[in-house]
Formats: sequence, structure tokens, C-alpha cells
Amino acid sequence: MSEIRNIVILTGAGISAESGIATFRRPGGLWEGHRVEDVCTPEALAADATLVHRFYDARRAALNHVAPNAAHVALARLDAAWTGELLIITQNVDDLHERAGTKRLLHMHGELRSALCGLCGIRTAWEGPLPPGAPCPDCGENALRPDIVFFGEMPYQMDRIEQALEHADLFVSIGTSGAVYPAAGFVRLAAHDGAETLELNLERSAGSDWFNETRLGPASVLVPAWVEEVIGAQAR
Ligand code: NAD
Repeated sequence: MSEIRNIVILTGAGISAESGIATFRRPGGLWEGHRVEDVCTPEALAADATLVHRFYDARRAALNHVAPNAAHVALARLDAAWTGELLIITQNVDDLHERAGTKRLLHMHGELRSALCGLCGIRTAWEGPLPPGAPCPDCGENALRPDIVFFGEMPYQMDRIEQALEHADLFVSIGTSGAVYPAAGFVRLAAHDGAETLELNLERSAGSDWFNETRLGPASVLVPAWVEEVIGAQAR
């Protein structure tokens, strides 16, 4: 631990599960009762914008009834206390990391509380329902859509992510199934460039074999314990 200065953390739906937000890859592969292909692809949006918008409206509204759990809070504590480099990359579209106080955060798959103009690409903070064809505040075209990176679309800030992974001394993956690329490949990129790698998950994931160490258990227990270890090592 004493040689670690640059930490990159990847979080997935598992970190928000104990806050009451359903994960994705439960048996049956449904997200809140919907098939991924029906709500999470550009083709789905083109075929049935009303269904897709309603799905994300419901997920956005649900954010009003959940709160960060001990794992989000612990990462915010790490962010405040860690004097080295730190980047927390989340695949989650909820806002629980920022509500816990995390600042060094990147939402690679978009955000529920944001709308994206499908024409000019401007991103706008959004609360409440987003009707299909809402006008963009920037270009004025009726082209606002949920600011969610659909399957087949490029995640946000990949250059910055790859640079951070290249310089990481420690890469930690929390509550992610290792099934969604490119995020699932981050462990290999980080390890290739010499980082130590640690997975914290409820159960072994598709990517577990790539990590130096895997710790199994709920994020609300594993993450605070790991954060205390890291902050303790920094103090020594
Ligand atoms: P996933 O649903 O595919 O996998 C969830 C992982 O979390 C599993 O490996 C599971 O073992 C683990 N897990 C479940 N409960 C846990 C707990 N209490 N503690 C620790 N680990 C736990 O999620 P993913 O890998 O993030 O991929 C799904 C994609 O769907 C994401 O990219 C995201 O964009 C989207 N999604 C987002 C949210 C959200 O924003 N909260 C929720 C569902 C899906």
C-alpha cells in the first residue's frame, strides 16, 4: 500500500443495490422488468421513444426515494482524504456518489438527471419527466433524449479513462458484473500497465480471474473496511 499514489475505482450497479436500486443482470437479464434491447439501444429509442422515455422517467423519479449507502459514503470519505490521484468511474446513471459527496467522479454511461440533445450533443440538467421531442435549450430542435449511453454508443470520456488506467497503481472494481464492455476490460488495461487490481463484489463475476484479489460480500461492508485500510496506510 505504501507505494500506491494513483487509484482508479470502477463502480457498477452493485454499489447502489443496497440503496434499493435494482441491478441489471439478475436471472432473466431484465432491468426493472424490461429487456435491455427494449430500453437500452438506439434502435429501441427509434422504434418506441415513448416506452424508452417512460422507462428512464421512472428511474429518474425513483431517485427521489433512495439515498447513498455506507459504500457511497466511504468512497466520498476516501475522495476527501486521499492526497494522491484518484478517479472514481461509475457505470451507474444514478446520482448516489455525488449525493454522498464524491467530487473526483466520472459518469461513463450518462446520468438520469440529465438530457442529451440527439442533434447538437448538448447535455442539460433535467428533473421530472422528459417527453419525447422536447426542445433543446441550445439549438432549439425537438431532439432531447435521456442522457444514457446506450449499447452500441461510445461511453463518455474514454480518453481520460484510458489515461487514468495507464497511470494507476491500484485499480478497484466494485459491484460490477464484468459483462458490459469497455468497462469490463479496464482491469486488463490497468494490470497491463502494472497496477495492482482488487475486486469487491457480492459474488464472483465474469472478470474475477483477472484480478490479483477478489473479496466477496456486500458493498456496504466491504467498501468501508477497504477505505479504512487505504486511509490508514496513507497515514503511516
Ligand atoms: P450488473 O447489474 O450487470 O451487475 C451487478 C453486479 O453487482 C453483480 O456482479 C452483482 O454480483 C453485484 N452486486 C449485487 N449486489 C451487490 C452488493 N450489495 N454489494 C456488492 N456487489 C453487489 O451491473 P453493471 O455491471 O453495473 O452493468 C449494468 C449496466 O446497467 C451499467 O452499465 C449501468 O449503466 C446500468 N444500470 C445502472 C444502474 C444504476 O445506475 N444504479 C442500475 C442498473 C443498471
